[in-house]
Amino acid sequence: MMETSQTPPPPSPPAPIKPLSSILVKPSGPDCNLGCSYCFYLQKSQLFGETRRHRMSDQVLAEMIRQVMRDGTASVSFGWQGGEPTLMGLDFFRKAVALQQQYGSPSQEVGNALQTNGMVIDDAWADFLGRYNFLIGLSLDGPQHVHDHYRRTRGGEPTWERVVRTARLLMNKRVAVNSLTVVNDYSVRFPEEIYQFHRSLGLRFMQFIPCVEQDVANPAAAAPFSVTAEAYGEFLCRVFDLWRKDFRNGRPGTSVRWFDSIFHTYVGAPPPECTLLRECGCYVVVEHNGDVYACDFFVEPGWKLGNVLEGSLIEMLNSPRQREFGRMKLAIPEACTACPWLAHCHGGCTKDRIQDPRDGGMTHFCKAYQIFFDYAHPTFERMAEQWLREQRDNLAAHERAAARQRAAQPAARAATPARGVPGRVAPAAATAAGAGRPVGANSPCPCGSGRKYKRCCGRAAR
Ligand code: SF4
Ligand code: SF4
Repeated sequence: MMETSQTPPPPSPPAPIKPLSSILVKPSGPDCNLGCSYCFYLQKSQLFGETRRHRMSDQVLAEMIRQVMRDGTASVSFGWQGGEPTLMGLDFFRKAVALQQQYGSPSQEVGNALQTNGMVIDDAWADFLGRYNFLIGLSLDGPQHVHDHYRRTRGGEPTWERVVRTARLLMNKRVAVNSLTVVNDYSVRFPEEIYQFHRSLGLRFMQFIPCVEQDVANPAAAAPFSVTAEAYGEFLCRVFDLWRKDFRNGRPGTSVRWFDSIFHTYVGAPPPECTLLRECGCYVVVEHNGDVYACDFFVEPGWKLGNVLEGSLIEMLNSPRQREFGRMKLAIPEACTACPWLAHCHGGCTKDRIQDPRDGGMTHFCKAYQIFFDYAHPTFERMAEQWLREQRDNLAAHERAAARQRAAQPAARAATPARGVPGRVAPAAATAAGAGRPVGANSPCPCGSGRKYKRCCGRAAR
């Protein structure tokens, strides 16, 4: 090789340490008790070919929880997913909670979110999930004809009635339930029916997941059940109208996770939806055998970061390989650089850029985003202005009250150190007053839930 006289580039500064605040766990790997036609994860069983049944061992469970509680932030969250995580049985989750209690510090908060198809949830499950404040993501695609179109057992039996029964049971037991709805080539035709159905059932927290998978039979195209960008864009606009109609006193009456996330981008807060972040890689996935991967959609050999029994989760989260994964999202297509919506969509999910080769490296949903932003941008701008004004007013009122309190204090007490002075405004909260600046941890969450940002979307952000 020829030598050159060029000086080597200075080493890049070390990347900031990413906190370990949330992990996604697949305790039963890709195993599922259903056979939904559009599921991308069922095929993952080829990765773990040595056995047909995949279950997390007690050793992996304990080590994973020990590390998260030891190295995690003051508030950590576990997202239990699959496949179908309830195949582990209730005792597994009892053990998980006991381990969280055993390894956590007294001041540490733990959140558990369970994503389920709802097929095995009974009274005992519901009581347990309610007692430990699990947040349930229930896969429900809408009314019967929509849900049963693709969500069936392996034998082809419909599942809608069972899932709706689970939704009612959970809500009767006051368990927090979000609906997870896959938007596919069929369901995309029924935005109003789906939204009103969820609402009538009492499901006010909704998440819509657009479906695009590569066609196994024809890798040059997307699978036939995938939704087109145009149809998804129209779907989003119709749901947006319904969401807006449900506003009461300027606040959302229902939560649609994608709209909430978009709103975060308008007020300068990191969105809970990772697809809208600038970079990926802020969480890791732990598979049933302890293998750790970069992302739910990249559970594949090339993105394996290690194993929880042999290495440290926080080190894997901050490893060069995970950084490399995160930075893949930064390689946005040329067309995005001049797009007015770049600050809101950041080119979409990396995975959606590679499912359909005909997309040429753009996210499959680019057109959907453009349709949606063209339609919804003025409303989001108005909402953001109003929200930021309220934050400024609240902060000013807070400061006035603090000043009055200070003035009323006797001189001797006023001389005590500032620590513990009532009404003192945390610096983090103060940042919420500035447009385009980060939302403070203690500020009201932009999604309108009424909770503090750190206890709501700020915690869910991944
Ligand atoms: S690849 Fe997609 S799903 Fe994975 S972290 Fe990035 S944006 Fe999120
Ligand atoms: S809307 Fe399309 S072109 Fe614009 S930034 Fe997003 S993906 Fe890129």
